[in-house]
Amino acid sequence: MPLRFQGNFTQQLPIPEAAIERAVAVMRSGRLHRYNVVDGEVPETVQLEREFAAYMGARFCLACTSGGYALQTALRAWGVSHGEPVLTNGFTLSPVPGAIAAAGGESVLVEITDDLVIDIDDLARKARCSQARVLMLSHMRGHIVDMGALMDAAESLGIAVIEDCAHTMGARWGNTKSGAHGVAACFSAQTYKHINSGEGGFITSDDEELMARATILSGSYMLYGRHEAVPSDEVFERVRLDTPNCSGRMDNLRAAILRPQLADLDGLVHAWNERYRAIEAILRPAPGVHLPERPDAEMYVGSSIQFMVPDLDEAGIRKLVAECLARGVDLKWFGDAEPVAYTSRYDSWRYLEQQSLPETDRILASLLDMRIPLTFSVEDCRVIGRIIADCLAALRGPAAPAEASSAATAPR
Ligand SMILES: *Cc1c(COP(=O)(O)O)cnc(C)c1O
Repeated sequence: MPLRFQGNFTQQLPIPEAAIERAVAVMRSGRLHRYNVVDGEVPETVQLEREFAAYMGARFCLACTSGGYALQTALRAWGVSHGEPVLTNGFTLSPVPGAIAAAGGESVLVEITDDLVIDIDDLARKARCSQARVLMLSHMRGHIVDMGALMDAAESLGIAVIEDCAHTMGARWGNTKSGAHGVAACFSAQTYKHINSGEGGFITSDDEELMARATILSGSYMLYGRHEAVPSDEVFERVRLDTPNCSGRMDNLRAAILRPQLADLDGLVHAWNERYRAIEAILRPAPGVHLPERPDAEMYVGSSIQFMVPDLDEAGIRKLVAECLARGVDLKWFGDAEPVAYTSRYDSWRYLEQQSLPETDRILASLLDMRIPLTFSVEDCRVIGRIIADCLAALRGPAAPAEASSAATAPR
């Protein structure tokens, strides 16, 4: 009997009991709206913002409805105007170009490298051609570009960096948290990210005006004085009448669910990385597999794994995905011309001006992706790794040219 995996790739951990207790207390109070407070009460949203700002080492933090909302709000609060070019990775998830469109911007897509990070040379070219003032840097699937080189390039090109940290909450580049490099950073608390309130998002920043605008945009009315992780009232007075209310607040119920998870985030990161490394240890040496390099400075969160199978054509990749699935392992192929589930290629975002990214095309053509939910044990992850390696070996056949020349056909 071939090895078969029984786990569910979309099953996340349950909400911790401490979070459930807090959530129930909020429901018992009836005060779910963040501005519905009684005298002396510090609502869950405010406490969460304070704690997330402290975790990030940021001056300010705003909790909101989703990661995508955080992205569009950060862009608007920074000052993207209608029709303005916004640079972003050619390989990202659709909420990123969606947020740029929602803010009125025009996505200018930048190539990625074989390590799945933004190509800094292409960034420089695209920045010069487009005259863009801002980069929405997507740390897609948790891969972090050399942030020293990126920030140097951004400075010399005169572009501001807003970070999409949907997959890097809890990650660092060297000693700096992912999200602490740019002018603002955006996070998601959606079920498949690193802390789970169903839906939810954050913006962090040290920029006073940006954060005052973001707070008003999120629907604070004139109640911004009930926030704590925001700039002083004088800053709000400068922007409050020029900034529209685009409702997207977080509520106390979600905040209550998130606070105990945030307190344990570093523990979750450790658990993800143990699992990531168990799969990586099997796949990295497997013939025909290329895994992105992860430099020492990249303290990533292995909540998903990506690998390339450059020797397989489309038919081979479809066969690999089908055979892994038949043995219980759910891979997604980012190269599919047809957008499937959460994967979509940039050329399927037809609301953008058409752009051609040959390097990104080549990389995505053989790029496979797999979620690593924490409901899997480390041993589960070894089983998964072996199934993928087996399926791949069977597909490549006994006489794959590279090994054949050295081993199989050697004269006895
Ligand atoms: C999930 C995700 C988002 C958006 O987060 P939501 O909370 O689902 O809106 C943005 N960027 C990337 C890379 C994501 O994976």
